[in-house]
Amino acid sequence: MFKSEGKNILNFRCQRRDTKCGAVVHLTLDTHSFSDTNDVNHNHPPDKFNMKQKILNQIIDDRLAAEPTAILRVIERVYAEANLTDEE
Ligand SMILES: [Zn+2]
Repeated sequence: MFKSEGKNILNFRCQRRDTKCGAVVHLTLDTHSFSDTNDVNHNHPPDKFNMKQKILNQIIDDRLAAEPTAILRVIERVYAEANLTDEE
């Protein structure tokens, strides 16, 4: 991601550096909405599994950001479900 100097534009460059992919999308800085591309096509097929993992990680991040106490609830639930003895 890099900003264009003097313009209301955010640029997102493809993360695939191993293929030296030059694809860039431009977003409007204010609204983060799609604006344009640099008309460079990706020089590699989409990585579906990696993409899915990134999306899931983003969802987890978003949910934890919105509800940080969820971590504690998950931990408490796991411990409760484990039916630990007093000694344990
Ligand atoms: Zn690419």
